[in-house]
Amino acid sequence: MEKRPCGLCADTHAWVYRTGPVLEGGYGSVSYDTTRLILTDEGRLGDADRLCDACTAVLERDGAAHPYLTALGEAPKQAMPPTAYAEIFAHHARSTFDTLRRNGVVPVRTGPPIPLDQVDALRAELELDPSRARSFRVGQVNFAQETVRVARAHVLSATALGADLDEASIREAADRYGEAVGKSVALLGEMMDALMKQIPPGDG
Ligand SMILES: [Zn+2]
Repeated sequence: MEKRPCGLCADTHAWVYRTGPVLEGGYGSVSYDTTRLILTDEGRLGDADRLCDACTAVLERDGAAHPYLTALGEAPKQAMPPTAYAEIFAHHARSTFDTLRRNGVVPVRTGPPIPLDQVDALRAELELDPSRARSFRVGQVNFAQETVRVARAHVLSATALGADLDEASIREAADRYGEAVGKSVALLGEMMDALMKQIPPGDG
């Protein structure tokens, strides 16, 4: 990649790339190489499309960016706010929809509008949906990865059913998913806390 300065502080070591609401650390970034972060406050970046590690860390500290996927190292922590899950969902749904469109696939609606509930139900047949699950095996659920899969399944389900698939419908589905998965994340947190309390001090 061509060398360009950080869009926020002009530091010349700027290896975190922005694509819409997603930041991705590239080779050269010490802290974020291969890590993707979702932005929940895009306004703070203006038109910056490259960031240095320090500015990315400030966004993360302020809760404006949340790491959600990484190919190297530890999985990012999963306790993100509902808005972060909604943005991850919306971004990956748009991306899948764009790919379908590039291949000439356009959902065709012939009958009355298909309610979101119907799309959700088919989606749940295709992918484990953590926004609908009521129990989890602690340590085995990765909400961020599941969110990416559910977003893709949502677009395929909507296409198969001939449901509306545009920015407004993706936004509605994403917000609803984010709210619901936020409750699942909280539930898992409570399960973890209860589990930790069962372990006598000094035994962990
Ligand atoms: Zn910077």
